[in-house]
Amino acid sequence: MAITTEDYVTPGAAPAARSGAAGKGRRAARPEGQWALGQTDPLNHNEEFKAEDNPLNVRARIIEKYSVEGFDSITSDDLRGRFRWMGLYTQRKPGIDGGRTAQLEPHELDDIHFMMRVRVDGGSLSLAQLEAIADISTTYCRDSADITDRQNIQFHWVRVEDVPAIWERLEAVGLDTTEACGDCPRVILGSPVAGVIAGEVIDPRPAIAKIKERFIGDPTLSNLPRKFKSSVSWHWDAVPEINDISFVGVVHPEHGPGFDLLVGGGLSTSAHLAVRLGAWVPEAEVPEVWHGVTQLFRDYGYRRLRNKARLKYLVQDLGALKVREILETEYLQRKLIDGPAAQAPARPPDYVGVHDQADGLKIVGFSPIAGRVSGTILTAIAQAARAAGSDRVTLTPLQKLLVLDVAPEKVEGLIEAIEPHGPRARASTWRRGTLACTGLEYCKLAIVETKARAATLVGVLESRLGELDLEHPVSVGINGCPNSCARIQTADIGLKGQIVVDDEGNQVEGFQVHLGGGLGLDAGFGRKLRGHKVTAEQLPEYVERVVRHYADGHEPGERFAQWA
Ligand code: SF4
Repeated sequence: MAITTEDYVTPGAAPAARSGAAGKGRRAARPEGQWALGQTDPLNHNEEFKAEDNPLNVRARIIEKYSVEGFDSITSDDLRGRFRWMGLYTQRKPGIDGGRTAQLEPHELDDIHFMMRVRVDGGSLSLAQLEAIADISTTYCRDSADITDRQNIQFHWVRVEDVPAIWERLEAVGLDTTEACGDCPRVILGSPVAGVIAGEVIDPRPAIAKIKERFIGDPTLSNLPRKFKSSVSWHWDAVPEINDISFVGVVHPEHGPGFDLLVGGGLSTSAHLAVRLGAWVPEAEVPEVWHGVTQLFRDYGYRRLRNKARLKYLVQDLGALKVREILETEYLQRKLIDGPAAQAPARPPDYVGVHDQADGLKIVGFSPIAGRVSGTILTAIAQAARAAGSDRVTLTPLQKLLVLDVAPEKVEGLIEAIEPHGPRARASTWRRGTLACTGLEYCKLAIVETKARAATLVGVLESRLGELDLEHPVSVGINGCPNSCARIQTADIGLKGQIVVDDEGNQVEGFQVHLGGGLGLDAGFGRKLRGHKVTAEQLPEYVERVVRHYADGHEPGERFAQWA
């Protein structure tokens, strides 16, 4: 069936336009930059610089020009635009407080150092790769390294002069930073226990590897309306609800193991849960279906306004049925097989602690606080893992690190070797359940500090609430600004960084509180509570109070999301 412009609506369009009515005198909907509808003129500066020169071309300029001539030689469009396609953002100039973030021009916030994201598709790293990351961190990045909630490694303090050498070191072990940021297909999340856990429905790793090999760095997919986030998992353990496209393992009653297909999830300042397309996708077809949805987003996605340019808005406007119809008719040229829904667990597993592999070996999961590690810590982990007979680790979407393939008799030695460096296998609820974004320390959009606050909060809660025997763990998400890099809407206690007024009337760093969000069975967004604003200083007391209320007041079996 041919798809016409009448089949499409644009965000913010009048009801008449949404219904497709062609009434006389109706104001024509404003073009949203949907290429499939012939709206190819760039409608904002981001679209202009992407159209002018494919952002992937910046790699050659970094190697040949910028790393040789230095920071000042970088053009503005490359620095604040195309560098992102190579995983590079300028980091925040030190000493600028959060109150001034919105008042300054972007260049006034730019430090000469970069943040660099290394994509770790599926979260899987060999020890050789982990050691290369650790070595880069200590050599070029002032020993900085964070495990992000996208299973990436994030470095700081990178100088443009050092980028080619860092890439060489990464590429020597099969890693890269291509499309780690930017309006393109970002890192593909995957089950951190894929291929080893007992009871696995289907191993997502081959599909992830094929998507990476065939499509990452493909110039025909490097100018999407905005970022495009993917997840392929067997057991709802790679946050499928909040990705642009997700495949979740499910057994079809006739066809066997395959994947349930979801699209249109995402958080940021307007949260949407992904919706099912009602299709079952066999493993061999995952790359083709992924490619179809990515092209659909490229061609039909809204490009006029950056804050409406995610797939979630198109899916919201078209609905799942229409999205599936376009996918089938225009991109796959065939029908998808109808399939059952994958069943969500009560909450996504974090795999911290000791878990059984199908082959009798053990998974040992470690929790740093909010993903903060260092090159030194990663070196120690690699050494300890090797001594325990393992050759690989995985990073998780909950900012954790798992050592795989540990012989049962080596587990205790591994834990004893790693825990003195910080990450814990025997971790408290608070250490396990607290996520934090990059925050004021490095992020130019930040209003408040996050990582150090997370460490303080975890320490205080461990000492004050250690005796509480919580039936269900409580998660905390700490964001440095209204974006949602630490998923505040889906945390039990979500904290959105902003400037608040303290008891003396001073403007200070603080948080707007959201309560009762969740993923998995409780998937939904927390309620923003009017009047629940807390200063950063009062944060530990506030969280303690809320948790004690929950502990005292909930019915047996009632989870935080149901109680809040
Ligand atoms: Fe930066 Fe805001 Fe994202 Fe935190 S939530 S990393 S402050 S953009």
